Amino acid sequence: MTKKWVYLFNEVDLAEKHVQGNWEAVRGLLGGKGANLAEMARIGLPVPPGFTVTTEACNAYLASERVFSEEIWDQEIQALRIIEKEAGKRFGDAKNPLLVSCRSGAKFSMPGMMDTVLNIGLNDDTAQGMIALTGDERFVYDAYRRLIQMYGSVVMGLPDEYFENIITRYREKAGVESDAQLTAADWKSITQEFKTTFRRHASREFPADPYEQLILATEAVFKSWNGKRAVDYRNAAGIPHTLGTAVNIVTMVFGNMGDTSATGVAMTRNGSTGEKTIEGDYLINAQGEDVVAGIRLTKDISQLKHDMPKAYEEFEAIAALLEKHYREMQDVEFTIEKGKLWMLQTRDGKRTAQAAVRIAVDMAEEGLITKEEAVWRMTPEQVDFFLHPQFSHEAASAAKKSGGLLATGLNVSPGAAIGVVALNADLAEAWAKKENKKVIMVRPETKPDDVHGMLAAEGIITSRGGRTSHAALVARQFGKPAVVGVSALKISMGKRQIEVNDTIIKEGDWVSIDGTLGEIYSGKLDTTIPDIKDPWLEKLLAWADEFRRLGVWANADYPVDAQRARDYGAEGIGLCRSEHMFFEPDRLPHVQKMIMADLPIERQDALDALLPFQREDFAGLFRVMHGLPVIIRLLDPPLHEFLPNHVELMHELSDLKIRIQHAGDLQQIDTLIEQIKQKESILRRLESLQEANPMLGLRGVRLGIHVPELTKMQVRAIFEAACMVANEGVDVHPEIMIPLTSHVNELARQRSVLEKEALLVMKEKNMEIDYKFGTMIEIPRAALTADRIAEHASFFSFGTNDLTQTTFGISRDDAEAGFMIEYMESGILPDNPFATIDKDGVGELMRIAVEKGRKTKAGLECGICGEHGGDPQSILLCHQLGLTYVSCSPFRVPIARLAAAHAALRKTGGGAPEES
Ligand code: PEP
Ligand code: MG
Repeated sequence: MTKKWVYLFNEVDLAEKHVQGNWEAVRGLLGGKGANLAEMARIGLPVPPGFTVTTEACNAYLASERVFSEEIWDQEIQALRIIEKEAGKRFGDAKNPLLVSCRSGAKFSMPGMMDTVLNIGLNDDTAQGMIALTGDERFVYDAYRRLIQMYGSVVMGLPDEYFENIITRYREKAGVESDAQLTAADWKSITQEFKTTFRRHASREFPADPYEQLILATEAVFKSWNGKRAVDYRNAAGIPHTLGTAVNIVTMVFGNMGDTSATGVAMTRNGSTGEKTIEGDYLINAQGEDVVAGIRLTKDISQLKHDMPKAYEEFEAIAALLEKHYREMQDVEFTIEKGKLWMLQTRDGKRTAQAAVRIAVDMAEEGLITKEEAVWRMTPEQVDFFLHPQFSHEAASAAKKSGGLLATGLNVSPGAAIGVVALNADLAEAWAKKENKKVIMVRPETKPDDVHGMLAAEGIITSRGGRTSHAALVARQFGKPAVVGVSALKISMGKRQIEVNDTIIKEGDWVSIDGTLGEIYSGKLDTTIPDIKDPWLEKLLAWADEFRRLGVWANADYPVDAQRARDYGAEGIGLCRSEHMFFEPDRLPHVQKMIMADLPIERQDALDALLPFQREDFAGLFRVMHGLPVIIRLLDPPLHEFLPNHVELMHELSDLKIRIQHAGDLQQIDTLIEQIKQKESILRRLESLQEANPMLGLRGVRLGIHVPELTKMQVRAIFEAACMVANEGVDVHPEIMIPLTSHVNELARQRSVLEKEALLVMKEKNMEIDYKFGTMIEIPRAALTADRIAEHASFFSFGTNDLTQTTFGISRDDAEAGFMIEYMESGILPDNPFATIDKDGVGELMRIAVEKGRKTKAGLECGICGEHGGDPQSILLCHQLGLTYVSCSPFRVPIARLAAAHAALRKTGGGAPEES
């Protein structure tokens, strides 16, 4: 049996049979446009008779070195014969000619494919026949010249200006503004000139034979699949090159047959806002591309109600029917020929993030789709859009075109920001606070003592650092757009400027950053500010909450962050990094004193001074999180991080030593000696604390064991705060978390210190606080021995930043600026493991830990608080591993709620297959 290469629009059933009933596969065979035209015909909509030459035919043509097989051509002719009968006209017949259009249509709509050719079948003879039939010479020559023009530009690749210049000349000669004012005689002689132009530039006559026109147009569509633009687009969009394109041959209907004819495009809902009103444009007495070409001023679709009430009424009903049928907002093309409406195309309409949310919610409430589908249709990126300012699309593409894109880096904290460059934190803060300037802080990397500048800035750029660098963590936590690891960026503190390739930006000059895409622009780009309080988004996220099984908690250190997290729907604090408070300017001196203390009594004094600060910090968090759990992690980082930087300290010392040589009086000398002594003692301590690998050194639980007074102070602060707020009526649920545990004995030791202190405080206050004691799992050994660890922990929280670092043996601070990029580019690693959990390694350790932990303690609370907790792909894994919750930065909470719902709906809601 010969293969079927051509399907009539009314043969969609056969196409379904051929691909075994799957609509996606029908789209693969007939292309999106062809499949939808056939589907519209099947549900009884007015589609002009036509047929589709399949993508398989395209692939066969391309595979056979561009030989158009007779079998395919024969089937095309047979199909043509059938539509001739339906239309009551004959292709090439001089008296009653059938004209057709030829349109490309791949499975996915794709720029770069061949544009439409209209009016195929016209030549000098058939034109005469058309004139006799319609009595409208102007219309026929307008159609004829369009055929030659489209054929020239689309099929033969001639520049369209060759033709447009001729039309412009005629308009000028006639002294008219628009094409509509040109006469039949004008179009007739334009047609002649077009033929001459065609011959001159295409080095051949315009093909007068309608069959030659048809075969060349079909072949041109096939060839356009491998055009450069199409190939580039497929590479960028990840569309397989093997799909091929279909060719749609459709009986021409004319929107340019006078004032009862029109052509237009419309969306069944507003693509910008999502409002349920038909949105579109049309032109009376026009054809094809006129509406979108922008040459003539179009009319708003609402006018059609008055211009052609009957056609509009029918159109409105069809729009509703299409939405009901496809259960999606549709983008349609239509033509009205002498009052009769024809549908020429339908496809899912493009929309903004706001429109996508509203349309999904409205459609669920109208009963067109289920709530599950509405949730499933939203993407995490669309939710993210509501959380941050964004650059307007136009502004970003204009900047790119004019060379304004300076560099790219890691997109670690989303949103757009503009500001003037400030090269240090103090200046950033001073400009922002005192001079009300918008500032982008630019640093090689950031440190805890840069935080005030980061908070004051609109956004952050660093030339070094990765996804879990200090800059990235802080930026995400505070919702500041940030691009880090911009290796092309050179910062010259001496010249107070930054350099990217050949562009120099002085401190104080404007830059714009896109933290969602990791892009840096020179100058000020226009931004738009969406609103998280969008009622449709709130409803959609509330629906997502009904479906998800994973809890969504947040990482927050301060009450304002906790409040934001709660507002965004967080159900607990999964990580309060208590050391962040130690860096506050009013606490750091006490922390340093504690580190510098030689005698236990001095150390205790410093800790006593810190206690009230910590108590207030925790009380603030507890109040905001009334009724919800708050996990406070005891001190984690190595102590040297709280002391000044070694190099800076050395500089300061040499500076002081130079100054002492030039001191004016004894008093000055005494002061300088005192300062030198102080700095030298800090230097000694710093040097004594120095480790070759501090991230693998005295930190985490090891630090707590080494300095038990510190653990006691933090525990006391937690329980005093808990008792205090409980007395205020706050429902308080503290969970105390030990970082970096690798052996159960570490935990047992910490637990006894901690429980003793907790009991002591509760006794002092004569109160009972319901609390939990648990640990982070961020060392492979802890994961592998989780059954033992669980004997002393009532919860686990996966610290996947460190767990990734320790599993791979890759430094989280350095990797993303170095070889990791190379690894990803060359495919050694499929994803950045610091952004998306490495399922086979880190994920496997997590699986083992959950299983072993829960063997010891059934139902053990297991969460994640590494940066992966806000990444949708990692959230899916957490769902599959049966975690209790994910904890992420407050700004990721809405996204995590959606992603957790997607994970739960994976089998049912969206109909997508469960990941293996
Ligand atoms: C982690 O390691 O995943 C974690 C949350 O802790 P930190 O990033 O503070 O080391
Ligand atoms: Mg950690």
